[in-house]
Amino acid sequence: MNRRDLLRFALAVPALAPFISVTVRAGAASPQDGTRAPGKRPRGPRLLMIDPGHGGHDPGAVGVHGTYEKDVVLDIAKEVTRLVGRNGGINVKLTREDDSFIDLRERMELGRRAGADLFLSIHADSAPNRKARGLSAYTLSEKASDDFAAAIAKQENFAGGLGVDVSDLDKNVAAILVDLAARHTRTAALHAKQTIVTGAGKDIQLLENPMRAANFAVLKAPDVPSLLIETGFLSNAQDEKLLRDPAARKRIAGILARELTRVMTASPFA
Ligand SMILES: [Zn+2]
Repeated sequence: MNRRDLLRFALAVPALAPFISVTVRAGAASPQDGTRAPGKRPRGPRLLMIDPGHGGHDPGAVGVHGTYEKDVVLDIAKEVTRLVGRNGGINVKLTREDDSFIDLRERMELGRRAGADLFLSIHADSAPNRKARGLSAYTLSEKASDDFAAAIAKQENFAGGLGVDVSDLDKNVAAILVDLAARHTRTAALHAKQTIVTGAGKDIQLLENPMRAANFAVLKAPDVPSLLIETGFLSNAQDEKLLRDPAARKRIAGILARELTRVMTASPFA
């Protein structure tokens, strides 16, 4: 859901409408600008922001054979971008297209500024347990997302960034808006995680307990559903062998592209 859709969603909540309708900014969605019900308007292509982890002076994990995480995830991310973007129904952008370093907050902000419907960070990290292997996916932990929503609720520019001027709003209404946004973001991210892991698990080795949550900075966009996929562990000899193999990387990218297309073309993203 992009910011405009979020506003439309908020406008669809009858209790909020009287407060918001007078504060909609020029250029933002308006409840009076059409006869169609909210959610029934034609929507343009969805935007997927893919974030290859690490880069530049930060190699990420280094495999036992010297494989750099930053290189294999960039390769996978580019192939996913090519495959998902191929049919034209979904736009795809990359946070980095070469070996450059971007800090975590900037990666998250790139997704927000672009109005991404889904943000996916791709990694291949290491674990102290060298036997750990397989794909897993992370969303922001509930505690972290609650804390973060609470923190941003205090910043008046948050709801402003959603296209709503909160300066005239009752504090409680502004808090409800922020809560709605955060809740929708979290639900959509959880749905994406479940769909992708379940689908990918039919064709690729999964980590034990592959659906995970953690306090990752790159996942903290309050208004962009975000997840992080560990395609495998460079600390595991079998996973590293796969990730070093260009054909295997293509296969992993193909599986991710298939599942991402599935997610982006169905509710709540379509
Ligand atoms: Zn990583």
